[in-house]
Amino acid sequence: MATFASSIGFLSAVALAATACAVPALGQSFDIRSLFSAPAPSSGAAAAPTGTGTQEWSGESGASNHPLMTAQAIRAAAANFQNCLAGLWPQAMRRGIPRAVFDANVAGLEPDLRIMDLLDAQPEFTKSFWDYLDILVNEDRVQNGRAMLAKHRATFDAVEKAYGVDRHVIAAIWGVESNYGTQIGERSVIRSTATLACLGRRQDYFREEFLSALEILARGDVKPEHLKGSWAGAFGPTQFMPTSFKRYAVDFDGDGRRDVVDSIPDVVASTANNLKKDGWVSGQTWGYEVVVPTGFDFLLADRSRVLTVREWERLGIRRPGGKAFPRGDDRTYLLVPAGAQGPGFLMLQNFRVIMKYNPAEAYALAIGYLADRLRGGDAFVQAWPRHERVLTRAERYELQQHLAARGYDVGEPDGRLGGKTRSALRHFQSSVGEVPDGFASAAVLERLRGR
Ligand code: CA
Repeated sequence: MATFASSIGFLSAVALAATACAVPALGQSFDIRSLFSAPAPSSGAAAAPTGTGTQEWSGESGASNHPLMTAQAIRAAAANFQNCLAGLWPQAMRRGIPRAVFDANVAGLEPDLRIMDLLDAQPEFTKSFWDYLDILVNEDRVQNGRAMLAKHRATFDAVEKAYGVDRHVIAAIWGVESNYGTQIGERSVIRSTATLACLGRRQDYFREEFLSALEILARGDVKPEHLKGSWAGAFGPTQFMPTSFKRYAVDFDGDGRRDVVDSIPDVVASTANNLKKDGWVSGQTWGYEVVVPTGFDFLLADRSRVLTVREWERLGIRRPGGKAFPRGDDRTYLLVPAGAQGPGFLMLQNFRVIMKYNPAEAYALAIGYLADRLRGGDAFVQAWPRHERVLTRAERYELQQHLAARGYDVGEPDGRLGGKTRSALRHFQSSVGEVPDGFASAAVLERLRGR
């Protein structure tokens, strides 16, 4: 399962509101993964201000400037919606979808134009790593997660035995994706994916999701009225996209249906199966919080620089409080998300597996951290540089463009700061004699502007 972000600013507001209320308001659902993730081609689920459904399309062109996102193109595609869907029948037929199922789902269907706004939302502000962790890994979520683990203990026992995936990580995904099933989204997956399959700039991707959603209904895995979720089509407590469902969903309760919405055993086992198929290493954790010594060479803090724990120890990396690492031979990379002023983390293979679930470091760290807390582990102990102003989305674009203009590889500038941008930034910092910690501060942006 993977996602793409679209409405980070909105989500931040929703997430903050959610932390303020013990009980989330009905329809205040969203896919929290979209807080972090990049618009990878293989991705799907996203922010879901599903609300009451009363919000209308703005009628405006999308901020992406994509030719399929102009107001005119959207209107034209909307007028052609039924023709577009009818044109998908041959593909549906080849997948074995009965004509009656196809017709029943397509007849009279109207596009959900509001999704066009969400697809192209360009929020001005984004949140810091530490704000995300504060929102996603709080005392409520820890207590609720422990309650869920206790309540479904027999299921978690059986799933852990069958798949070898740490139950606390599954519970953490459940907690982060939908606040343990309380924030799932109210949009029809069929209508959302049909809309995106025929309108807007990601039709190829969503055609596959739409047809896969029809396959799910044709097989009767999920109750049609429960195939609801985020505006991008992710559904169920751990937010499966239809194509992810096809790859990973399992029938664990043995009723013949892979019901990742209403069957907790199927939800838990399908999520475990997903991680297992993506390479989860049984018996290992995701990573460790570490203290990075003064004077450390931050050019080493790169995803591609994999060393054993013992080698990192030789470089002065320690766990807080002098705690020992369980195994010196584990191969890890060093992540320093807030630069020299914040904590470091040594990341194992399982961190990479969590990132396949959603390719965003902040997301994966939140999952790992919540899993630790659910297990009874300690909170992170080092302080974050909370005084640092977080760059706006526009400033992040600008930072990437400055780096690209200087010949550093940042990939396609997207306003999201991942490993590639951080690596480019480290090399720039190094070239100007600054500590190359890769942290995108307001100061480093000033420096990039000034030369
Ligand atoms: Ca089942």
